[in-house]
Amino acid sequence: MTLEKAIARFEDVVGPEHVLRGERMGEFRDPFQPEGWEDHLPSAVVQPETVEQIQEIVRVAAQWSVPLWTNSQGRNNGYGGAGPRLSGSVTVNLRRMNRILEIEDELCYALVEPGVSFLQLDGALRDGGHPLTLSVPDIGWGSLVGNSLEHGITYLKYGQDFMAPCGLEVVTADGEVLRTGMGGVPGSRTWNLYRRGLGPSLDQLFMQSNFGIVTKMGIWLQPQPEVIMPVTVTVPREEDIVPLADTLRRLLLDGTIAGVPCMYNTPSAAAMVTQRSDWYDGDGPMPEAVLDRIGRELGIGRWIARISLWGDGPVVDHRYAKIQQAFGAIPGATVTGKRTTPAGARELEHPSDRVAAGVPSLDLQMMAGWRAGARGGHMDFAPVIALDGAELLRFLRTFRPMVEAAGLDFKSAIMAVSERSAVYVSGANFGFDDEEQARLVYDTMQRLVTEAGKLGYGNYRAHLSVMDVAADQFSFNDHAYLRFVERLKDAVDPQGVFAPGKQGIWPASRRRPR
Ligand code: ADP
Repeated sequence: MTLEKAIARFEDVVGPEHVLRGERMGEFRDPFQPEGWEDHLPSAVVQPETVEQIQEIVRVAAQWSVPLWTNSQGRNNGYGGAGPRLSGSVTVNLRRMNRILEIEDELCYALVEPGVSFLQLDGALRDGGHPLTLSVPDIGWGSLVGNSLEHGITYLKYGQDFMAPCGLEVVTADGEVLRTGMGGVPGSRTWNLYRRGLGPSLDQLFMQSNFGIVTKMGIWLQPQPEVIMPVTVTVPREEDIVPLADTLRRLLLDGTIAGVPCMYNTPSAAAMVTQRSDWYDGDGPMPEAVLDRIGRELGIGRWIARISLWGDGPVVDHRYAKIQQAFGAIPGATVTGKRTTPAGARELEHPSDRVAAGVPSLDLQMMAGWRAGARGGHMDFAPVIALDGAELLRFLRTFRPMVEAAGLDFKSAIMAVSERSAVYVSGANFGFDDEEQARLVYDTMQRLVTEAGKLGYGNYRAHLSVMDVAADQFSFNDHAYLRFVERLKDAVDPQGVFAPGKQGIWPASRRRPR
C-alpha cells in the first residue's frame, strides 16, 4: 500500500502522464531477458524533467522507504539494460532531461543533462558548427551520463582511463543537491575543467555505486583533427594475440598510439557484419576450421586490432609508418589505414571504423544478433587483465574451454583501456526466446566470474544477475572494501532508497549474511 501511496505522490510531482505502469513501462526491463523471467522488473517508471522534481521524488521515496533505480537512457544492454537490480523498485528514468547546457569550443568541453545521448550531442556539435570531436561507444543511443557512470568504454583520446567526465551535480538521499570537485565553489569557473577539488574527490564515489542521482555532468571533447585514420591490423593465428598485444602496449607507452585500441577475435569481429548461421549451423562451439575460414573470407584473421590515429597529416603519416613497421614484423599480419577527415569519416563503410573516428550510430547493435537475430541477446563477462600478450593467451586458454564446454562460442573483445590494462569482454550470445540457452549463459557467466576471482581478476562491470558474485570477488581481508562501502551507504542513504544491490551494495535492511 505504501508503494501505491508513493506512486500517487510521484504522479503529483511529475504529472500522471510521466509515471508509466503496466504495458507503458514495457521497455524498461532487460531486453535480453526471457519474457517470463521476473528477476529485474520495476513496479513503475517515473520520468522527471527537472532537478527539483528529482529532489521531491527522493524525499517521497525516503518517507515511504521505496527503493528507486535510476537510469538515464536505460540502454545498458548486456549488463541488464533498463532493468533494476531489485524487482519492484521504482525506476527513475531521466530521458526527458536532455538539455545540452553548454558547449565550449576553446576549452573543449560540454555540460549535459543525463538524458543527452551520444547521437544527440554529436548532432548538436555538427549543427552548431563546433570544431570538436566526441569519443563515442559502439552504440550511440546511450547517454553520456549513464555510460560514464558505468565506466562504459569509448575509443578516442579521453576514452583512455575513462577521462572524459569532469564535474558532477548530484541529488543525494536527503534531497540535497551537491556539486563535486571545483563545483563546490559557488559560481565556480573551473567545475568542468579540473577533475579534482581540494579533496577528497567525490566523482568516483557516484560512479558504479548507489549514493545519489547524477543530474549534470561535464564531458571533455577534443579539437577536430585535420586527419583521422582508423587502422586495422589482422593476424592469422589465435596465439598471435601475444605479439599483437605486446606491440600495442609498446606503441601506447611510447605515445605512438593514444585512445583505446581494441582487439577482436574472429567470431566477435564477424558478428559486426554477419550472423553465426551464415557460417555454421551446429549447436556446439564453432570448430577451428570454420573460424579459420571466416578469418580468411572476411579478411579479419583470427584477431583484428582496431586503432585510431588523429592529428595533422604529417604526424598521422609518421605514426602510421611506425605502426606498419611494428605490426608488419608479425608473420602473416596485415596493416591497413584509412586516412580521412572528420567529415569523411561519416562515409566510412565499416561501422567499427566510424566508431573509431568518433561517429556514433546504431549499426553495431548487429553484434547482439549473432545467435538469434532480432531475438538475440548477449551477456558479458568483463574482467580487467594486464595488457600483456603472454597473460592474455594464458587467460584465453583457461577460459575458452570453460565457455566451449557449455556449447557456446568464445567471443572476445579486448579493449586497451590504459597503457597497462585491458578489459577482456567475453560475451556469450543466446536467443532470449530459448530459456534453456539463456539459463546456460547466465550460469556460465556466473561461473566465469568466480573462476576469474580465484585467479586474481576482478570484473570492471557486471550484469545485474551477477553483481553480487562479481562484488564478492573483491574479498581481500574479509571483504574490507565492501564493509567500508557499506558504512558509507548507511551514512549517506540510511533509508536505503538508492538502487539497492547495485554493485553488490545493499542497504542494512536487506544485507545478506556473509
Ligand atoms: P545509458 O544511458 O548509456 O543507456 P543507463 O541509463 O542504462 O546508460 O545507465 C547505466 C547505469 O548507470 C544504470 O543502470 C545506473 O546504475 C547508472 N545510472 C545511469 N544514470 C544515472 C544517474 N543519472 N544517476 C545515477 N546513476 C545512474
